[in-house]
Amino acid sequence: MEILENDGEIWNVALPIPLRGLYSYRLKKEYAVKALPGMRVMVKVRGRSAVGYLIKKADPDKEYPYKIKNIDALIDSESLFPDELFNFLIKAAEYYMHPIEDVLKGALPPGIDPGFVNGKIIPPKIKVKLEKSFTANKIDKDKLTLMEKRSKKRFEIFNYIQDNSPARESILKLEFKNPSSLIKRLLEDNAINADEVPVVLDTIYTQTVLRDKSPELNDEQLTGVNEICESIQKGYKGFLIHGITGSGKTEVYLHAVKRALEFDLGVIVLVPEITLTPQLVGRYRARFGDRVAVIHSQLTQTARFNQWQLLKDGKINVAIGVRSALFAPVKNLGLIIIDEEHDSSFKQEKGFPYNARDMSLLRAKLAGAVAVAGSATPSLESYNNALTGKLRLLNLKQRATEGVLPEVELINLANNRTGPHGQSIISFSLYKEIVKTLEKKEQVILFLNRRGFAPNLVCKNCGYVEMCKECSVSMTLHKRPSLLTCHYCGYKKSPPRICPECGSKDMEDTGTGTQKVEELLQELFTDAKIARLDRDTGTGRKTEQILEDVRDGKVDILVGTQMITKGHDFKGVSLVGVLQSDVGLHMPDFRASERTFQLLTQVAGRAGRGDIKGRALIQTYSPTHQAVAAAKDHNYINFANQELVFRKELGYPPFGKLAVIRLNSKHSDKVEFASNDLKDKIMEILHNNKELPIWILGPSPSPLEFIQSRFRWQIFLKSPSYLSLKQFLEKIVPLIENPPSEVRIRLDIDPVSML
Ligand code: ADP
Ligand code: ZN
Ligand code: ZN
Repeated sequence: MEILENDGEIWNVALPIPLRGLYSYRLKKEYAVKALPGMRVMVKVRGRSAVGYLIKKADPDKEYPYKIKNIDALIDSESLFPDELFNFLIKAAEYYMHPIEDVLKGALPPGIDPGFVNGKIIPPKIKVKLEKSFTANKIDKDKLTLMEKRSKKRFEIFNYIQDNSPARESILKLEFKNPSSLIKRLLEDNAINADEVPVVLDTIYTQTVLRDKSPELNDEQLTGVNEICESIQKGYKGFLIHGITGSGKTEVYLHAVKRALEFDLGVIVLVPEITLTPQLVGRYRARFGDRVAVIHSQLTQTARFNQWQLLKDGKINVAIGVRSALFAPVKNLGLIIIDEEHDSSFKQEKGFPYNARDMSLLRAKLAGAVAVAGSATPSLESYNNALTGKLRLLNLKQRATEGVLPEVELINLANNRTGPHGQSIISFSLYKEIVKTLEKKEQVILFLNRRGFAPNLVCKNCGYVEMCKECSVSMTLHKRPSLLTCHYCGYKKSPPRICPECGSKDMEDTGTGTQKVEELLQELFTDAKIARLDRDTGTGRKTEQILEDVRDGKVDILVGTQMITKGHDFKGVSLVGVLQSDVGLHMPDFRASERTFQLLTQVAGRAGRGDIKGRALIQTYSPTHQAVAAAKDHNYINFANQELVFRKELGYPPFGKLAVIRLNSKHSDKVEFASNDLKDKIMEILHNNKELPIWILGPSPSPLEFIQSRFRWQIFLKSPSYLSLKQFLEKIVPLIENPPSEVRIRLDIDPVSML
């Protein structure tokens, strides 16, 4: 072995390659003094310069049978992650058996890696944009009284800064008209200090929100708030709030956040989809103003970078956002809230396949923080955790306002095949209820989980169906503009007038999407104002406008997809109709029942939130199915207990652990061969490890076999325990890391999608 001239420390480095292991590099002495885990370094990988992350110092006594390369440069002067976050990310990568570099990089704002030219570092283009931020100084009473006398507005600005330190200039400009000269005066008087911080560049953020105060909590809310608040700052504790729709869960979260902030602790609030629920974010901003950073997918790169920096520096203490907000570098993390914890958007499917709901518990544990998950329809995983004592269960059984839960009725579609105008989308029973509701000047929500006009365009002569060329799914017909769209890959084309197969002109759309319902409603209720809300109606401002119109009573009937179920609070809605409750019920997925129950309960929960009593009518072909029947009775506990029995029998989560190995390729023969070959090798390994309780299912083509021009296969692994599953997976990781040519292999632990 060659002796190296410089004898710096050897570090384990995570590299941007699809292998899970760490690599050893030597750090020159001049760098070693400053080096910390989580800093980026420039190293050579396979002859090219790349960014790696220092993970930990290697064991100094370890012998290496090869020459250890030097680290070319240390990029950062401080770690990019608070210690707590860094430790969490390493543990998360271990849990999901995912390459560490990908996990670390995914937790950083995009665009912050430098480039390299001839082995020299070229700094990243991205730069923080700064603005002034102010904090109030202590001022004695006499001076304050004087200030109030001289200039009421200056006094108000001072008070605002005092209550909202640090208060940014941009926010002061939103809250007060032309505050600049008064701020200047406050600075001259030494009443406030100025600092420079990154600007928050976010359209959600820069809209004004009126401050509000908490309503008086009811007893159930108070019990919850007290228990949670008593736990904050006392180490890890996990809660599950099971609160019916409209029971005031958000109010409980807001109180917990307030307490954490009083202790100078940082907070993360995870919510399903922010751009769809701007009102929800508004409620946090109305309470905590300037201390909230909103993390969502529509932020620009610079905006993300700025927010990340603000959080990291502790200038902002609350990060509210979608699943990736779990990686926010908040300082002194004390509280994580997972709102609507049952929502499947917390699971990331691409790249690093993590579940933010599960990982929030891990991060809270490592940080000694409190985690609060809440839902009207908790996931069976969380509910089971509550039953076994892993989570403390808090119940909210009453609506917070006057309202009570809506009465739910089922309409058996088998006996109601046609409705008014001979159509079969809205039954007579539902139609009559809509008429009555409109007569009373109350509002209606109609729910259908399918966007577009019609899910199929079919030739009536030969049965030909327009399918996406890239995916094995039929293309959905959209109107205005008239286009066939693939909902999986986004491919669009104009609908053919004659059948490409037989030349017949008899092309017909079949099935129903929200656009068709909207059109039908306009025919049936000529005087009603009708609005539609789904992914095609736009996000951000447009969504907000529609929601605002509904709240202001400018809309009589709102028709929409899942988007209308997400936590909106419409006081004037007294009737909810579910058009087809069976759409998701017969999916090849053991969670199909659970999802249907959740969806029906959540959508029914939009009715009767004000002081008028609500009703929900569910049109269904499966009135006796337990998911539908339990939703009718608002009986979560019954549903959950029955479903848990079924899961236990079959060894499905939360009782068993699942992992899926997904293979895909452009060539169907290659992926099929690779899947069978992998299965054989897995069985061989299993044969040599008979003590491990592992069951293998598959290989089989995915239910959606052909998506985006790739054929997909899957192999499921099932085990009663995570540890056994992991022990076994570790043995097959080399197989996953070395796929045959033109085949990709991914590992997904605790999968949510079975497709
Ligand atoms: P959830 O999150 O459980 O669906 P919300 O927190 O949105 O419920 O509360 C539903 C409505 O009740 C909101 O308009 C909220 O402002 C109001 N609310 C919550 N708690 C109270 C309370 N203690 N007194 C009066 N109104 C309340
Ligand atoms: Zn045809
Ligand atoms: Zn497609």
